[in-house]
Amino acid sequence: MTTTSQVVIVGGGPVGVGLALDLALRGVTSTIVERRPELSRIPKGQGLSQRTMEHMQRWGVAEDLRRARLLPPDHAIGQITAYGNLMSDFWHASPSRELLAPYYSQANVRLPQYQTEAVLRRRLEDLPGVQMLLGWQATSVEQDRHGVRVIAERDGVKQELEGAYVVGCDGGHSLVREQSDIARAGTDFDELVALVVFRSRELSQALSRFPDRSTYRVMRPDLEGYWEFFGRVDEDEEFFFHAPVPRGQDPAKVDFAALMHRAAGLDFACEIDHVGFWDLRVQVATEYRAGRAFIAGDAAHTHPPYGGFGLNNGLEDAVNLGWKLAAVLDGWGGEALLDSYSLERQPIFRDVGEDIIGGWIRDDRAFLEQHSPEADLPEFERLFEETTRGFGARLRGFEPHYDGSPVIAGPPGGVTSAHGTHTFVAQAGHHLPPQTLTSGASVIDSLGPGFTLLALDADETEILAFAAAMRRAGVPLTVVRDNVSGGREAYGSPLILVRPDQFVAWTGVQAPTDDLLRRLAGQDATA
Ligand SMILES: Cc1cc2nc3c(=O)[nH]c(=O)nc-3n(C[C@H](O)[C@H](O)[C@H](O)COP(=O)(O)OP(=O)(O)OC[C@H]3O[C@@H](n4cnc5c(N)ncnc54)[C@H](O)[C@@H]3O)c2cc1C
Repeated sequence: MTTTSQVVIVGGGPVGVGLALDLALRGVTSTIVERRPELSRIPKGQGLSQRTMEHMQRWGVAEDLRRARLLPPDHAIGQITAYGNLMSDFWHASPSRELLAPYYSQANVRLPQYQTEAVLRRRLEDLPGVQMLLGWQATSVEQDRHGVRVIAERDGVKQELEGAYVVGCDGGHSLVREQSDIARAGTDFDELVALVVFRSRELSQALSRFPDRSTYRVMRPDLEGYWEFFGRVDEDEEFFFHAPVPRGQDPAKVDFAALMHRAAGLDFACEIDHVGFWDLRVQVATEYRAGRAFIAGDAAHTHPPYGGFGLNNGLEDAVNLGWKLAAVLDGWGGEALLDSYSLERQPIFRDVGEDIIGGWIRDDRAFLEQHSPEADLPEFERLFEETTRGFGARLRGFEPHYDGSPVIAGPPGGVTSAHGTHTFVAQAGHHLPPQTLTSGASVIDSLGPGFTLLALDADETEILAFAAAMRRAGVPLTVVRDNVSGGREAYGSPLILVRPDQFVAWTGVQAPTDDLLRRLAGQDATA
């Protein structure tokens, strides 16, 4: 049997389903092949960032996700960091991602990944053009210059899935990555970490000593910068706990209740529901594209779940790739657009893994080696607070941007990076910060499915010249006109060209040349 669609997606986790949704909303057909018949009930991937919620809003599921939360709507999402254990006198509730709220049009939410996946899958059922093969395992991926062919198997039965492109959203052990000969590189911290899912009302009550928070991180000298941390799944009793498996111990024989008691500083009663393990390492693919094959999400990058980057970055991969595939399949996007997927996304995750996550481990290790309450209490207290503030600052310094991308008209010499500064100025290569239009609508919600020209008190002749140039290039354009007031003056330019993924492609006063516009659509990378 042969099934044909434009894009074959291997892996129906959150990133594969998110990509299928993005493609379907752009009119692109896809087939998802997912080996698991049921969703995994491990409460991972809980923190959906403000940026991720912008995707969810566009995909029409933001409200459904908010309704699917297990924590009450007003439950704070931030973190407590404690020294020694959770009953210690030394702890801080330093600000974190909440300070970024003004720079995004949606608030962040917290819910288990299986709830998110269920909402995304329900939405997929409303959309035409997506076929989901549950319980089928992809076993081989081939490509030639005409297209791709994936073999999927179930109970000894095979079927062929044909398409123009294949995207591996098939997790850390990606078949698509392996069969496309894409290498990975990164730092192996050589630690095995346990993930324990458990229930305890006693711990829940003990944590009421802190202001309302969702995660509780423990720093201790013997942890050498790695973390033990608890996360709430619901308000009453369900938690997860991560801790490095003590060196030299057989993971199967570890007393996990004792490990949790030490981290909590309290012998609480608990029911353990699940114990799993993961390796503490950063692994990022060197390329995200090999011809007609692409990889996204954990297939492209895996790392310790410190800071909640995995799922959020995976969904941003899907959004970055979705419009580019649609543009090429629609005939107006060029090959350079497909190449730009890897150029834009790969460096971001390399920075996340090595600088942000690796940086936290290195900073905490250095702090714990040099300072303790016993050695110098006032100095310890001052620097412990500084370290916990530094954690939040590093998280808020995550401002992924595509400076230097060949399909962005940014300043010369720019370099794509995860590090930047959030600002309300519209800058080529950066996420468009939200503002409200005179109509009361959000700028972000008013962007079109293709490119959007935001024209703020702009010269009408320039707007018409711009629209004509885009028509000549065959690139779909929505024009949003407004004046320069009500906060929109912060954008700093009368003409702002926004890509379908809400990143700014170009800013200026006069319509750019046809060559430049063609370059932004990947039609000609030389202009
Ligand atoms: C304990 C924990 C906590 C986390 N917390 C956060 C957080 O707070 N925020 C955050 O952003 N991220 C978090 N993450 C990371 C997040 O869970 C992952 O990044 C996310 O699951 C990646 O989604 P994915 O779709 O790329 O891959 P996966 O979720 O791994 O999905 C891949 C899918 O592909 C399928 N598959 C694989 N091979 C094949 C094949 N050959 N044929 C068919 N199907 C196949 C698998 O069955 C699977 O369903 C956490 C991870 C862990 C382990």
